[in-house]
Amino acid sequence: GWVDRAAGTVVDHPLLGWRDVPARTVLRARTGLPVHVDGHARALADGERLFGRGARGGRSALHLFAGNIVDAAFATHDEVHHGPRSQAGAIAHLPLAGGAEPCACGRTGCLQAELSERTLCRRAREAGVCDGRDPLHVVDAAAAGHPVAARLLRERARMAGRAVGLLTDVLNPESVIVTEIGVIHRPDCLAALRGELDPARAATVTPTSFPESVLAVAGGAVALDVLYRDPLSVSPERI
Ligand SMILES: [Zn+2]
Repeated sequence: GWVDRAAGTVVDHPLLGWRDVPARTVLRARTGLPVHVDGHARALADGERLFGRGARGGRSALHLFAGNIVDAAFATHDEVHHGPRSQAGAIAHLPLAGGAEPCACGRTGCLQAELSERTLCRRAREAGVCDGRDPLHVVDAAAAGHPVAARLLRERARMAGRAVGLLTDVLNPESVIVTEIGVIHRPDCLAALRGELDPARAATVTPTSFPESVLAVAGGAVALDVLYRDPLSVSPERI
C-alpha cells in the first residue's frame, strides 16, 4: 500500500483496511532494533538499483509492481522518487483502456482492479482453471497446458503493458522493470506486455531481477539503502 517512509507509517492499505498504522514504531518496540519502512514498489526499485541486472549507474528506471496491490516507482540519479508523504507511485485508480473490472471506487477499469492478483484468481476460479486461492496455481495450470490459464495470464500481461505505456508516456525512463507473475514465469506473457508498446519502448522492458525472492529483496533493500548511504548512521556508537 501507501507507505510514508519519513513518518514510518502505512498511510493506506485498502485491502487490509489499514490507515495510518505506525509500522516503524510497532516493529521497533517488538524487536528493539532500528527499523526502516517503505512501499513495496519503491523498495524493489531500490533492490534493482543496488543489485539488479539493468538499472544501475544512475539511469532512470520505472518499476511496475502488480500483486494484490498495484503500484509503481520511479528512480533517477540513484534515487527513488518519494515526493511529499511518499505518495509517488499511487497509480491504483488510473483508468486502463479496455478495462471492464468494477473498482471499489465506483468506476470500472481502474488499474489496480484490473491487474490485482485477486482479479486474476477470481477469473481463474470462474473459468474452472483452479481453486483461485493462489495466483501461482494459475501459472502452474498454464505450464501444464491449460489453455484458459495461459489466456488469462496473457490478458493480464497485456493490461500491464497498457499500464506501462501510460506511465512511460509521462516519465520516459531509460528502462522499465515489471514484477508481475505471468511476465516473470512465461515468455508469452512478456511478449504480450511488450506487444502493447512501441518496439523501442518494448525493448527496454525486463522482468524483475529477483523472481524467486521478491519479498525478501524488497525488505532487505530498504535496510541496505540506508546502510550504504550512511554506514555510520547505524553504528551503535552514534545512538
Ligand atoms: Zn478505482
